[in-house]
Amino acid sequence: MDFTAFNLHPSIMAGVRACGYSVPTPVQAKAIPLIMQGGDIIGLAQTGTGKTAAFVLPILERLRSGSRGRVRALIISPTRELAEQTCDVINSLGGETGLRSIAVYGGVSMERQTSGLRRGVDIVTACPGRLIDHLWKGNISLEDLEILVIDEADRMFDMGFLPDVHNILSCILHKHQKLLFSATMPPDIRLLAREILHHPVTVQIDHELPAKTVSHVLYPVPQHRKTDLLREILHRTRMESVLIFTRTKLRAERLAQQLASDGHRVASLQGDLPQHRRQAALDRFRDGSIKILVATDIAARGIDVLRISHVVNYDMPENTDAYIHRIGRTGRVEKSGDAITFVTSADSEKVAALERLLDEPVKRLTLEGFDYARRAPNSQSRQPARKRPNRIQGRGLARRRQ
Ligand code: AMP
Repeated sequence: MDFTAFNLHPSIMAGVRACGYSVPTPVQAKAIPLIMQGGDIIGLAQTGTGKTAAFVLPILERLRSGSRGRVRALIISPTRELAEQTCDVINSLGGETGLRSIAVYGGVSMERQTSGLRRGVDIVTACPGRLIDHLWKGNISLEDLEILVIDEADRMFDMGFLPDVHNILSCILHKHQKLLFSATMPPDIRLLAREILHHPVTVQIDHELPAKTVSHVLYPVPQHRKTDLLREILHRTRMESVLIFTRTKLRAERLAQQLASDGHRVASLQGDLPQHRRQAALDRFRDGSIKILVATDIAARGIDVLRISHVVNYDMPENTDAYIHRIGRTGRVEKSGDAITFVTSADSEKVAALERLLDEPVKRLTLEGFDYARRAPNSQSRQPARKRPNRIQGRGLARRRQ
């Protein structure tokens, strides 16, 4: 099957070619024809499956004809990064259509967004809070809305945005097509789907894609030896680009500083960073000027970087859904990737759940010559042994302890 099967307008096919897509991904093959028929859809697909283009292409096809300059499609995204990335996909695929799109999210001034909205746009990708601000201020009208997408609905729920989503839905009075995309279907999302969708068809994409193209390995290691083990693995392994996940913001920040002091090109991505620094870190990771990004789950939401060769779970993810989300960043669309997970003795239940999900035992590796038994520098501190002192880090920690 190729993209000609969808009978997309030549201006949109030009965008498909410009993006270098030749074969639709499974979610695109299933969802695009259904969305083009106009019905409501539940898309059970995670980041990395090509889900964005699966809803963007039918939106472009639908909006290509008809009036311009009024918001006819709205995509609600849980994070600014995802909103921006979705807007980028719209601009790349729809570059030849003349349709105008804008991303609207908090943490930056409202003025530019307001003037963008006032100039007239056809497609808005928005985070819930900022969208509500614009709705209240009368900067945006959803009277002409024809198609609504709720993207990464489960993340929206995790981040506490469901009340905002309900608020937005209450501002949209008339009937239009609704698409709900989610990697998982927790009860609250099932309820939301039941409330808002009209006879939806479910498009289910298994978690197969990343699982097949990604090799999974576990490194059993005591907590206090994780950083040195990571350093040693980074030293010994050729890695194109590495996304490292930690459980906490502080750990992400600290680890990035430690790796930087080893001479790695690295940045941390955590929720506390101002928007321009998050964006700068992402851009530098995307263009290859930094090779390692250390992130927490929330901060990494929606990161769309094609060349991630390795995902390292410095801390085991909370559950298998989070694991799938994290490793969905590597092994993207027919590329192979490696998922390395550090596990401590406290993680055994999570490992069992992961093996049930993957339906096979995950290989345990031991790094030859690495001193797993070395004791923590002192029992008070959980900080791993350091080769060189890092003054900047010391100051940062002291500040935080206060
Ligand atoms: P998504 O799941 O929407 O985040 O997409 C994951 C990645 O797959 C993005 O970088 C897309 O550019 C890429 N992608 C989407 N559709 C295709 C396709 N049909 N062929 C190749 N790459 C694709």
